[in-house]
Amino acid sequence: MDPVVEQEIPRLTTTTLPMGVDSGNPFDEMMSRFDVAAQKLGLDPGLYKVLREPVRETKVSIPVVMDDGHIEVFIGYRVLHNIARGPGKGGIRFDKNVTLDEVRALAAWMTWKCAVVNIPFGGAKGGVICDPASLSRGELERITRRYTAELMDQFGPEKDVPAPDMGTNPQTMAWIMDTYSMHARHTVTSVVTGKPLSLGGSRGRVEATGRGLMLISREAAPLKGLTLSGSRIVVQGFGNVGSIASRMCHEAGAKILAVSDINGGIHDPAGLDIPAVIAHYEKARSFEGLPGVQKITNADLLELDCDILIPAANENQIRGRNAGNIKAKIIVEGANGPTTQRADEILNQKGVLVVPDILANAGGVTVSYFEWVQDRAGFFWRENEVNERMEDIMCQSFHDVRTMAEKYNVSYRIAAYMLGISRVAHDTMVRGLYA
Ligand code: NAD
Repeated sequence: MDPVVEQEIPRLTTTTLPMGVDSGNPFDEMMSRFDVAAQKLGLDPGLYKVLREPVRETKVSIPVVMDDGHIEVFIGYRVLHNIARGPGKGGIRFDKNVTLDEVRALAAWMTWKCAVVNIPFGGAKGGVICDPASLSRGELERITRRYTAELMDQFGPEKDVPAPDMGTNPQTMAWIMDTYSMHARHTVTSVVTGKPLSLGGSRGRVEATGRGLMLISREAAPLKGLTLSGSRIVVQGFGNVGSIASRMCHEAGAKILAVSDINGGIHDPAGLDIPAVIAHYEKARSFEGLPGVQKITNADLLELDCDILIPAANENQIRGRNAGNIKAKIIVEGANGPTTQRADEILNQKGVLVVPDILANAGGVTVSYFEWVQDRAGFFWRENEVNERMEDIMCQSFHDVRTMAEKYNVSYRIAAYMLGISRVAHDTMVRGLYA
């Protein structure tokens, strides 16, 4: 275990949220956990100030000629949270609800996540306020290229390396790589991860976050007297993360009782035929028309009787108002920030084991790290090498967080923050502050 600073802190001005409150603001939700972890670690007040502030926040305006000829201007952000342990790393989200506070929180989560799984990256995140479902492929390409061009000086394999997040995918990453390379005057594959395989992508990257969730579910299950095989699982969100987590858990012998997307979900108490659901969804982009299933709302889905709940959509889904009704024994967070601090308090009291986002969904960034390594080496690994190395890291990290939770008698979430923060704090101290 890395050294942690074990000393009393005199008095911190913290942003800890008052008990019993859902802030609705992801950055406040992140900081309230950061504050608890910093207090538990006895983090030096000066270091606290360093670690709570993002290194840089950039807002860009993205003018785009739309397909009908009119000009639209989109707003984009990139937040570089911390680079003490390596280049910034973090996805780009295309969503109509993107805010600077959301991107800030997501960037900070990337810092702690990369440190929890002990890979040599800092944290960053980006977002563009747009509704990808209502945009044509050409419009999405022009948004992506202009966003990349605006951030040309900030991105780079040694500086800040984006990846996919909600609303973006390997094609988006290919456009980023191409735009960056056109400006650099040579092909730079390692500027972005999550690319198509033929353009320097890594085998196993598309599946990595979902595979990681399956592995973490497998590791967590025995703590509640369960095995993954035979567990009853509910998954919210059916994009990259949710659909692949469903498939991987199904293949491992679990019963997937319900899945959903933004328009609602489907439920079968006997267990869904996940390969059939995926095949249907890939064609129809909807669950409509699937035989033998019941419809269910997202709100009801979260409260279903099950063993493991995997929220894999977006933030603030499990809150003060519904946490008391959650029946799952284990929550494995696929989304970033799906559970509020208030909900954590209620779930902890109920004895629900919450495996936090910064551990549970770290399979994606772990294989992104492998992709960056492979691009820089120009040498590509077999899929089973990628999967085995990712499994080693995820299982070791689960063990590290469990050890921390037991040592300090804290929740897995606070333990993960403590582990991440202690590693970043340690490396910041060893580097020292420049000038
Ligand atoms: P995606 O765009 O592929 O899919 C998102 C899914 O969530 C879609 O099915 C969408 O319909 C659904 N959704 C959106 N809003 C919803 C709502 N309010 N209620 C229910 N469903 C809703 O995105 P993704 O890449 O699968 O990411 C999902 C989550 O996982 C995000 O929080 C993201 O930050 C996180 N995450 C993604 C990765 C990755 O590798 N893609 C890695 C780590 C964490």
